Amino acid sequence: MTIGVDDDESAFSHVDEAKALEKSWVRICSRLKGEVGDVEYHAWLTKIALGPVDGDEITLLLPTRFLRDWVRSQYGDRLSELWNQEVASIRRVELQVARPGDPVAPVLQLDEGPAVSAQQNIVPPESDESSSRPAPEARSDIAAILDGRFTFDTFVVGKPNEFAYACARRVAEKPSSVGFNPLFLYGGVGLGKTHLMHSIGAELLQRGNVSVAYMSAEKFMYRFIAAIRSQSTMEFKEQLRSVDVLMIDDLQFLIGKDNTQEEFFHTFNALVDAGRQIIVSADKSPSDLSGLEDRLRTRLGCGMVADIHATTFELRISILESKAAASGVIVPTKVLEFLAHKITSNVRELEGALNRLIAHANLFGRPVTLEATQDVLHDILKAHDRRVTIEEIQKKVAEHWNIRLTDMSSARRARVVARPRQVAMYLAKQLTSRSLPEIGRKFGNRDHTTVMHAVSRVEEIMACDAAFAEDVELLRRMLES
Ligand code: ADP
Ligand code: MG
Repeated sequence: MTIGVDDDESAFSHVDEAKALEKSWVRICSRLKGEVGDVEYHAWLTKIALGPVDGDEITLLLPTRFLRDWVRSQYGDRLSELWNQEVASIRRVELQVARPGDPVAPVLQLDEGPAVSAQQNIVPPESDESSSRPAPEARSDIAAILDGRFTFDTFVVGKPNEFAYACARRVAEKPSSVGFNPLFLYGGVGLGKTHLMHSIGAELLQRGNVSVAYMSAEKFMYRFIAAIRSQSTMEFKEQLRSVDVLMIDDLQFLIGKDNTQEEFFHTFNALVDAGRQIIVSADKSPSDLSGLEDRLRTRLGCGMVADIHATTFELRISILESKAAASGVIVPTKVLEFLAHKITSNVRELEGALNRLIAHANLFGRPVTLEATQDVLHDILKAHDRRVTIEEIQKKVAEHWNIRLTDMSSARRARVVARPRQVAMYLAKQLTSRSLPEIGRKFGNRDHTTVMHAVSRVEEIMACDAAFAEDVELLRRMLES
């Protein structure tokens, strides 16, 4: 049973209705799939998420305008017909571009009925019937929002995230183990924190017989305030404190929100004392979350703290390969390498770029080439070209470690200067599109193999020295902003 938070007061009927709609949608999808074929179906129709029903109209959401227009022109009428056949009161389908925070398309497993997904609200797994425990009625008005695309299977593991991944898996297998409670996941934007949390939730659900609540810290605050307003804080607390696993995403949001922090702290303690699992994500480590109360920071740091580092080129390539393979469109290695070089900061953007390429390939039925890529992604690439220069990197790195700028190109090999120099080379490789020989030249005419060595050395040290990794990450963020 999954729980997340639902804003609707009449949660029960809302949940039932959402369930019924989702079932209808599964049937519609499976008919459409039969009508249009697998390729078309995956290219377009799996991107649709269910929006609200208003009178005789249901809203369907698509991630981009491009997709919305295409789906509208190609399938708009058919969608209306099919919806009307399913639910007689629905006469029209409105296609809209999803806004941030809107539901995303769930992965529907057409043969077996809806997956764990349930973007709207929750679909408790049918296996609940066989569970020995009564379904926790009191909890069901906090409804789940798990994205069915985010599972361990679709998470690509590489050096920067392998530790966080291993911890997440471990907690999904054995919640509440000593040493893993709380599990604190942290890292920069778009590096997979939410993906990992949803994966844990999906895995726990699959095993069944646990209740999982997942919500962003923002939602947590919103619910808390709503409960105060409606004088139902007791119920809210009880609901929260009755779950087996509580996941709070983007905890940094609670900085400066003292009352909500206080409430979270008490919930946290109550759950941990009762042997329940807590999983929290944030953009910084507990010790760096200044602005959170000390006692909360201390408790957050007492379980397992796992950092997701910035992606490496290799990881970006693996992620792209896996997503390209899943799409069924052939994307040449050259194109994948080009993207992995150009878009370095954020997996979400990388994914967005690839999705756009795939959409175009499907639309025009043309193979993906490097040329087409540059054309189709013109605007994205331009934004990423506004990137730092090697000189800026050298300057920032030298300042950070308090060495002379000239030492970036000097022949000195003492570690105090050699290490920062290696970091600067590493960042130059990560943040600019310069080739290894070009980078070498900017560092006192060094050979490209020296740059290569610097890159792998820095990656190695980052993997085993958290403080060093944080320094590098910090520099990267400063340079990127
Ligand atoms: P965060 O919560 O850290 O900001 P998300 O978990 O939302 O990041 O990830 C952003 C996007 O990138 C998601 O679509 C996610 O599936 C994808 N993503 C991030 N890391 C990976 C990975 N290692 N493998 C596959 N997809 C990933
Ligand atoms: Mg997130």
